[in-house]
Amino acid sequence: MHEGIDILVHEVGPRDGLQSIETVFPTEAKLDWIRAAAAAGVPQIQVGSFVRADLLPQMADSADVVRQSIDIPGLTVSALVPNLKGAQNAITAGAHQVGVVMSVSEAHNKSNVNRTVDESLEGFRQIVEYRNEADPDRKTVISGGLATSFGCTISGSVPVRDVMKRAEQLLELGADRLNVADTVGFANPKQVKDLFEELYRTVGKDVPVGAHFHDTRGMGLANAFAALEAGVRELDSCLGGLGGCPYAPGASGNVVTEDLVFMLEAMGLRTGIDLDALLEVRESMEKHLKGEPTQGTFVKAGPPLGFVPATAA
Ligand SMILES: [Zn+2]
Repeated sequence: MHEGIDILVHEVGPRDGLQSIETVFPTEAKLDWIRAAAAAGVPQIQVGSFVRADLLPQMADSADVVRQSIDIPGLTVSALVPNLKGAQNAITAGAHQVGVVMSVSEAHNKSNVNRTVDESLEGFRQIVEYRNEADPDRKTVISGGLATSFGCTISGSVPVRDVMKRAEQLLELGADRLNVADTVGFANPKQVKDLFEELYRTVGKDVPVGAHFHDTRGMGLANAFAALEAGVRELDSCLGGLGGCPYAPGASGNVVTEDLVFMLEAMGLRTGIDLDALLEVRESMEKHLKGEPTQGTFVKAGPPLGFVPATAA
């Protein structure tokens, strides 16, 4: 954990946000966003995804973006990878953290990465093996993804025992940490609290666990709070709530970073992030959008009278 921070806010906009919209951001625009967010105090940013460029042209420059982002002082640079080749490219580019994509739901995993979950686990094993050889000091953190942990657009509900089983398997294969995602915005706060409590009982309190929520049905912040209550200390979010849900046209995307930071700071939890500076980053980022909507309420209402952010206190 970064010093002086109670909760780590992991900005995923340059990946999750940008990969879900039509507009392709030029590399410089991405880097402007990343640099400005880091200057505003954002400690960790997911800057790209190492997927085939013909599938996701928005992410074609990910290696370049990683290479330039790792020079930003104090910033932890993460990248998402679907397979060994992606992981090799991300590690070669210098990513500090590599998030490996895997869905707990078989149907979702098949449609997303065209593999069974067991095949994805074998791929995960190879990624850890590659990291251990290429980087004997194991400085590159490998994060095991558990997408669709709260439900799936193809198969509906996802049993909690499946999430636990896959979490244990990822850790046995060498995951340094886990990321539990409500990929399609099905989760409710009670479900979130119950699942994370069960997860900590299963894998132990010492495993770093991040949570990734979408605001598709307005539950994003409530789910983030429920995860905090269960002991989660790392939360993914996206500036302006950029992005959406490919299965629900017009639906809002990830939890809005500014709103999440406001909630945490108001609750006395330090994020290290300056909200005023963050709103300026949002404004600059929005200039590159071509009609895509952004979300968020803090940007409209501003801080309440007398508000003192925990980070500034
Ligand atoms: Zn997401």
